[in-house]
Amino acid sequence: MNEADQKLKEIKDDILKCDKCSLRNFRDENNYLPVIGQGNHKADIVFIGEAPGSNEAKTGIPFCGAAGRILDELLGHVKIDRRDIYVTNILKDRPPNNRDPELNEIEECLPYLEKQIEIIKPKVICTLGRYSMGVIMQKFNLADKLDSISKIHGKEFEYKGIKIIPLYHPAVAVYNGNRKEELKKDFEILKKYV
Ligand code: URA
Repeated sequence: MNEADQKLKEIKDDILKCDKCSLRNFRDENNYLPVIGQGNHKADIVFIGEAPGSNEAKTGIPFCGAAGRILDELLGHVKIDRRDIYVTNILKDRPPNNRDPELNEIEECLPYLEKQIEIIKPKVICTLGRYSMGVIMQKFNLADKLDSISKIHGKEFEYKGIKIIPLYHPAVAVYNGNRKEELKKDFEILKKYV
């Protein structure tokens, strides 16, 4: 196990034990798993979604349901293999009824994501959806550049050499093929990093 593997395993162990917010009760009551992250521990590109849905909480795998199938299609469009990237979420546990993350949940969970980013050291961070965009842009001192996702999706921002690219959440295209074309265009910005 290399150093990154070891450190990421420590984060996994901490998340398994974590009971800092009420999502831990929801995890236990439903026999759910936390969704820690999946992929290459030295990835150049990290994708950050919002929070696990029910398929993800049952398997522990990020983006393994309907939105995940769209994500795979979008990655395929720009010839990116999931094994070369790292995929995770702002929250590691599923919120009841897929409700929006609450502020205290984001605050308690964010240190895990911050450590994951520190260890993986990606060149590019793609946020998926407006929640992830808001959290990451604020974390990377880009709050003054924040706007609605309809204005800044597919644009590139930079903080200390790391590119931050807000993207729509793949779920927007689950029932709407037109949105998929828009998402595919946005994903094309990633071709230069492959
Ligand atoms: N939606 C997300 O934001 N993350 C997942 O892992 C799955 C669906």
